[in-house]
Amino acid sequence: LVTVENLHKSFGGLQVLRGMSFGVPEGEMRVLLGPNGCGKSTFLKTMIGLHRPSAGEIRLAGERIDGLHPHEIARLGVSTKLQVPSVFRELSVYQNIRIAVQRETGRDARSRNMVIDETLDMIGLITQAGNRAGNLSHGHQQWLEIGMAIASQPRILLLDEPTAGMTPEETQQTAQIVLRLNRQKGMTVIIVEHDMAFVSALDAPILVLNQGSIFFEGTLRQVRTHQGVKEIYFGSRA
Ligand code: ATP
Ligand code: MG
Repeated sequence: LVTVENLHKSFGGLQVLRGMSFGVPEGEMRVLLGPNGCGKSTFLKTMIGLHRPSAGEIRLAGERIDGLHPHEIARLGVSTKLQVPSVFRELSVYQNIRIAVQRETGRDARSRNMVIDETLDMIGLITQAGNRAGNLSHGHQQWLEIGMAIASQPRILLLDEPTAGMTPEETQQTAQIVLRLNRQKGMTVIIVEHDMAFVSALDAPILVLNQGSIFFEGTLRQVRTHQGVKEIYFGSRA
């Protein structure tokens, strides 16, 4: 579904992505790992059109999406939860999801309400639907953001460190949410994440980004035992 081919991205003289290539078949999940500042968020932002690549291609179902406007990329079914918070704190959980659903045109009110209810169920916030978003725990706010990202029923969901600041229990519940989206809804998912308990629960193939390109691809077990990866990524912990 997604193919990234020889992707380069520089900021002035700083070369961040230097020939990144990989693919994700429809309905599959990939976890993107890599040391701090290696360009994981830069890749996600390039994929959703916030950055224009310096070179290379990103294709969605065979069509090039690099260089398209972010709205156009979103309309084609690429949705994201970035590292920065994006909920409307003064509005209720329900209203936040409703706004996200309304961004999609061409739905009648009844089908919209169904999508809202289904989304609240997916993220486990049905009982909190009437609460002010700003009063939710940090972890529940992150779930709400995931809900806003999936309300448009995207083909591919990109998540940038979705468990940052969560308790271990919330982290495991987040893994269950993501697994439901992937396995029940068939959503293709790319996740950037540091939390190894979370990555382990996802049980998905790992891509290791280092010095601007995909350095290694394999299972978490392979990644953990690969000497080169240990050096760049688990160096301090190996
Ligand atoms: P982290 O694990 O800390 O989230 P990351 O892998 O997501 O790191 P990025 O945020 O993609 O890393 O940043 C990669 C490099 O690009 C860093 O050196 C960062 O300072 C630089 N960078 C990111 N965005 C910009 C920008 N808009 N302008 C200039 N430099 C940038
Ligand atoms: Mg980042």
